[in-house]
Formats: sequence, structure tokens, C-alpha cells
Amino acid sequence: MSDHGTYQGGPVAALRRIAFLLERAREDTYKVKAFRGAAATILPLPAEDVARAVEDGTLTQLPGIGASSAKVIAQAVRGEVPERLAALERDHGGPLTAGGAELRAALRGDLHSHSDWSDGGSPIEEMAFTAIELGHDYLVLTDHSPRLTVAHGLSAERLTRQLGVVDAVNSHLGGQGTGEFSLLKGIEVDILDDGSLDQDDDLLARLDVRVASVHSKLKMDAPAMTKRMIGAVRNPRTNVLGHCTGRMVMGNRGTRPESKFDAKAVFEACVEHDVAVEINSRPERRDPPTKLLELARDLGCLFSIDSDAHAPGQLDFQVYGCERAEAAGIAAERIVNTWPRERLLAWANG
Ligand SMILES: [Zn+2]
Ligand SMILES: [Zn+2]
Repeated sequence: MSDHGTYQGGPVAALRRIAFLLERAREDTYKVKAFRGAAATILPLPAEDVARAVEDGTLTQLPGIGASSAKVIAQAVRGEVPERLAALERDHGGPLTAGGAELRAALRGDLHSHSDWSDGGSPIEEMAFTAIELGHDYLVLTDHSPRLTVAHGLSAERLTRQLGVVDAVNSHLGGQGTGEFSLLKGIEVDILDDGSLDQDDDLLARLDVRVASVHSKLKMDAPAMTKRMIGAVRNPRTNVLGHCTGRMVMGNRGTRPESKFDAKAVFEACVEHDVAVEINSRPERRDPPTKLLELARDLGCLFSIDSDAHAPGQLDFQVYGCERAEAAGIAAERIVNTWPRERLLAWANG
């Protein structure tokens, strides 16, 4: 390339791209936080102040800027490709999968994502910006519900407050000429032991999309778990059944077996009540397992291919789910997040 070695993006873009690539590569979050923190520090500063700090060698005196971030900033300010960025682009910038690209291109949005309001690592607006950069028309913000205290699940009061923040983010984005994109209001609501949903119904009614998931008592016996899941699927507020087996196939949380339930009965209830079965794209989940994915396909279920992102870079995980859906021969038309926003909203609130 003739322009090899020159960089026009500026230091904030370089730091954000580094963080994105690290998250996408599933690196430790502490590494990522350093770069995101540094980006947040210099974002509000005038460019000449940053340039002066580079020249004076005083960048690391700014809050949250360590040696490696300072190096990235200095190189970007000088118009050079930061070495750390070049290395990450080379090692982690390529496609994540061999398949799934065609289906990924057909997706218009993502129905399952978390911010730092629950157990995600980044602010709401950073998730939204990254979704825009990935080409999405919509992102549903689905932070956890109250009972999931380990994940800082949102009380009714906090969720109510979050809805105002989502409105503010949307009006801000609209003001920046990105009016095509919407951040949608959602929740990943716990399915309680009796099949009810862990949030006030009038608040659920105010949301655009609701994902319902089991997060506790995953070892419940099969008849009770079947009843519990069907109870949630029958709830008219439920739109998506999240990571249905709860299994973990890898990762730092260790492995976890699938919950036992009558999958045919649960998926038939999904068809009857117009609930999409989530294809959870997280590499450590790969949920539903292939056998169940094929069963849901054969029973006529709708699907939603979700990232379940807990960091902006993880929004790019959807292609993992696309690869699996493509391998299972699931048509794009049956995947609700290939639909335009208006159709999706009509389906979710019909
Ligand atoms: Zn979940
Ligand atoms: Zn989730």
C-alpha cells in the first residue's frame, strides 16, 4: 500500500479500534479498559492540548493514560499507524469465521446486548456507536432484571431511568445525522421458577423488545423446567427465548451442562405464541446446541441471532451464530433481525 505507515484517524479512533479488536478477540477486560479509559480522557480535550502533551511527554500525567495508551496516542497524533493497532489488525482484524457472511450481511440489528448499567463493560452510547459502525439499523439494549443481583440487574426504578437515557441517546444520534439508527428499549428478563417474568408488567409493556432467559436453578428437573419455560413463552410480553439450555462449552467461567427440558414442547409453544428462539452467538454458549437448533427449525420456529454482547467489540460475535444458522439451513426470512425495524416492532408488540 502506498499510504502504509500514515494514519489519519486520530488518537480517539485508534484507541477505540484497539479496544474493539481486543474485545472481539475475547481478551481480558482489564487490557481493554485501559484503552477505553484513555479514549474517554482525551475525547473532550482540544486537539492542540493533546498534541502539546505528546510533545512535552506529559500524556501519562492525564488520568487513566498509561504508557501503552500514551504510545498509541503519540503515534496517532504524529500521523503514524500506531504499532499496537497495526499488530492487532494483522492478528485479529480478519474474519472470525469461515461461513455465515451472507446471513450476517442480511442482519439489520441485534436484539440482545448489555451496557455497564448491568454487567456489561461499556456505557450505553459506546454500544450504540459501535452498532452504527457495524452497519446496524437497530440495537436493542437488554440489561438484566432485578433478581440477577450478581449482574447488577435493574430495579423498576433504574430501568425507568434507563428508558430516559435511551431517548436521550437517540435524540443525540438523530442530531448527528445518523437518524437511520435506533437504540431500542429492551430487557433480558429472568424467567422465575414459576415461569413468571422478573419485572413489572406495565414496565415490560413500555419496552420495544423483551428477551426472556433462565439464569438460576438451571438443574431443575425436566418437567418443572419445561413448565417454567413454557410459562415464560406464553407470557404475551415475551418476544425471544434467550440461550435456552444455559450451557457453557468453554471460557473462563468453566463449562456447564445443558438444562434438561422437553424441547419439542417448548419450541412448539414458541411457534404457537410467536416467540423467536435465540441463536446465542457467544462462543462459550453456542446455544441452542445443533440438535435442538435443528429441532426448532423443523418445528417451524422463528429465530433471533443475537450477540449477547457485554462489550462493544463483542457485537461482532453475531457472525458465529450466522455460521451455525447457515449450516442448519435456516432461511433468512425466519430470522427476525433480518426484518426492517418497523416489521420487527410490529411483531414484538402485536
Ligand atoms: Zn443471559
Ligand atoms: Zn445476556
